[in-house]
Amino acid sequence: MWRRNRILVTGGAGFLGSHLCERLLEEGNDVLCVDNFYTGTKDNIVHLLDNPHFELMRHDVTFPLYLEIDEIYNLACPASPINYQHDPVQTTKTSVHGAINMLGLAKRVGAKIFQASTSEVYGDPEVHPQTEDYRGNVNPIGPRACYDEGKRCAETLFFDYHRQHGLDIKVARIFNTYGPRMHPQDGRVVSNFVTQALQGEDITIYGDGGQTRSFCFYSDLIEGIIRLMATDKSVTGPMNLGNPFEVTIRELAERVIDMTGSKSRLIFKDLPADDPLQRRPDITFARNTLGWEPTVTLEAGLGSTIDYFRDLISKHG
Ligand code: NAD
Ligand code: UDP
Ligand code: UDP
Repeated sequence: MWRRNRILVTGGAGFLGSHLCERLLEEGNDVLCVDNFYTGTKDNIVHLLDNPHFELMRHDVTFPLYLEIDEIYNLACPASPINYQHDPVQTTKTSVHGAINMLGLAKRVGAKIFQASTSEVYGDPEVHPQTEDYRGNVNPIGPRACYDEGKRCAETLFFDYHRQHGLDIKVARIFNTYGPRMHPQDGRVVSNFVTQALQGEDITIYGDGGQTRSFCFYSDLIEGIIRLMATDKSVTGPMNLGNPFEVTIRELAERVIDMTGSKSRLIFKDLPADDPLQRRPDITFARNTLGWEPTVTLEAGLGSTIDYFRDLISKHG
């Protein structure tokens, strides 16, 4: 008998998770969103609560979870440095125990499982742009290690469950992604710069602003995730998903000032420890395998992000 696919999204009340839940519902799936609301908020999913095919469950993925589902997207994990460094032990537990529990669940019910890994597995990269075969340069005892090493260990677990138990796994290494529903106070650079510019506050550049990042708009990223999940079992990843257009942090600040017409000044603060100097994905693998590449320019993506934060500030101050 035909029935809808039952999909579990962990971290579904977060920035990316909420957009993913929305997309999966649009495609006719039943979606179960699991979140402990550590960095996610009900505001991100409130518009989905009336949908009979959407279900919300407050749960911490470091504890076991017994459900009957067909697919899992494992996104639960704080993503911004100030949040993941606030309780670093819990961050590692979320990545490692969370992965074990979700893999155990996938194994028991035979579900396909996606892991939101990260460009941070490359650490402060010596290879530029980063290809999937680069093994990275992570400081295992630094302040970012709870996130970077947690995600690296999660990848190890995914590949061992694949080899040892035959699980259908999909691992994406996501590069900096931005857009509406980023938390205004989560400390990431796009949300910081945009909210600072809109409120006429100083724009805080860490270091001299010469470090680079490559920013992907959320809708491109979600499309890449959906396409990766639709591949046959031979495609496991890890696969880079991100936008190869690279800018310096200083250029980003200047663009935001231009686009908001802000009078904010640039101020320079200390560069946090282990902050990567450069980052840009090589997306050849995704291009060839998924026929995917980002389509939203930084200008267009920043435009809609600025509109989102302008609206939020006018509602909540
Ligand atoms: P986010 O902080 O908005 O979302 C993370 C969600 O996970 C939140 O809703 C949070 O409450 C939830 N969560 C955290 N710990 C949990 C736990 N123990 N149990 C249950 N839920 C928990 O971040 P995001 O940007 O949406 O990131 C989503 C995923 O994508 C994360 O795994 C992140 O590491 C990964 N990622 C994001 C980016 C990016 O630039 N946005 C880049 C690389 C990887
Ligand atoms: N698990 C879960 N839900 C399930 C099945 C397993 O949360 O439906 C968790 C459980 O905590 C278990 C972990 O996943 O310890 C790993 O499961 P696995 O079967 O791989 O190993 P086990 O520890 O059970 O031998
Ligand atoms: N950054 C900055 N000012 C801010 C926030 C961040 O200059 O207010 C810098 C940060 O040091 C890093 C880059 O912007 O070099 C991206 O930071 P983010 O925390 O968004 O992501 P990640 O470092 O994890 O790539």
